[in-house]
Amino acid sequence: MVETPHQREVRIRYRSRPDIKKRISENMKKRYHKNMADPIKRKHISEKMKQYRKDNPEYFKRKRDEWYYKNHDFKLKYNKERAKKLTFDVFSYYCNGNPKCVCCGEVDIRFLTIDHINGGGNEHRRSLSHKGFSGVNFYAWLKRNKYPKGFQVLCYNCNCGKVRNNNICPHKTVL
Ligand SMILES: [Zn+2]
Ligand SMILES: [Zn+2]
Repeated sequence: MVETPHQREVRIRYRSRPDIKKRISENMKKRYHKNMADPIKRKHISEKMKQYRKDNPEYFKRKRDEWYYKNHDFKLKYNKERAKKLTFDVFSYYCNGNPKCVCCGEVDIRFLTIDHINGGGNEHRRSLSHKGFSGVNFYAWLKRNKYPKGFQVLCYNCNCGKVRNNNICPHKTVL
């Protein structure tokens, strides 16, 4: 039986109705799961899929790329959130709950950093990894090692001042 152009048009219009579309996709899903439960049919499906992948490499490459970009954004966002939480946790620990610079009292977390009380921060960080640990990786290290002693929270200002002034923040020395 050959479809006339009119029949074809009617069929396509019918199948593109939202409710019909939904029902068809549900039925297809049901049939797929039923077939996958049968080992013989399952093997047949997987072989067909393999062949289909071989025959349409561009299509699958595009799908893979789309998936990658979609999840890449998601992953970046997730990592950012995780880094924020980790930073907050580490600062909170060393400040007994309320992150602030122990020298000048700066509370804006964007200004804060972890300071090695006795200096030698760069050497210590380098000894942890050949590339040197920075920021989040260093905070992760602190948390993993159950917050070792010898660290405090300082703002960048006090931290840099301390490095330039023999390990004492210039706020603490009288000119
Ligand atoms: Zn400070
Ligand atoms: Zn200071």
